[in-house]
Amino acid sequence: MNILLNKAHFPVTVLGPGRRIGLWLQGCTIRCKGCVSQDTWPADASRTMPVAALLDWCKRVAQDGCDGITISGGEPFDQPKPLASLLRGLRAWRTTAGLDFDLLCYSGYPLKTLEKRHTKILALLDALIPEPFVDGRPLGGLWRGSDNQTLVPISPRGVARYADCIGQAQAAEGKRMQISVEDGKLWFIGIPQRGDMAELETLCRQRGLELQQVSWR
Ligand code: SF4
Repeated sequence: MNILLNKAHFPVTVLGPGRRIGLWLQGCTIRCKGCVSQDTWPADASRTMPVAALLDWCKRVAQDGCDGITISGGEPFDQPKPLASLLRGLRAWRTTAGLDFDLLCYSGYPLKTLEKRHTKILALLDALIPEPFVDGRPLGGLWRGSDNQTLVPISPRGVARYADCIGQAQAAEGKRMQISVEDGKLWFIGIPQRGDMAELETLCRQRGLELQQVSWR
């Protein structure tokens, strides 16, 4: 089973609790206005890799443990079979290795749609952040881009870790973004506030640095 992957990173500390593996799947048909990850939209076949190889990578980078795995995109549920295969592999690793990481997944589909179409995949998750990003709405609660997006604990582990976070504002953690440099590219990880990326471009330009091929327009 192959999966389209945009990026994988460890540790991610701004998309869920603790030190996490972040997996961004490639391909999104939802295409929310104002999305800052437009590089993840095309279902680019050159981004394909075996799910087994991705699982091996996760086990290698987090051999000393991780608190959770965040799956984002792109739209993870646009690849339902690879997503299910990935989640089953992660759960099997968790069980056999006696680990306690949680599985959090983002989706731009409404919760009702996911409950109707993907019940079995939801049952593999500990927590879900559904609903499309709406640029015209204020920033959402903790780890969420707009205030229509909810945080839904699913499993007992998810309830234990996430129930207290549902009503928390982003400000509870302050404005936090991670930056990584890989293959000559700058990656911004986290939830920017409205206008942050334009301000970043302006500040870079003022210092003589022109950002090219940005993912937010
Ligand atoms: S915010 Fe998420 S669901 Fe919306 S267009 Fe961007 S990647 Fe797709």
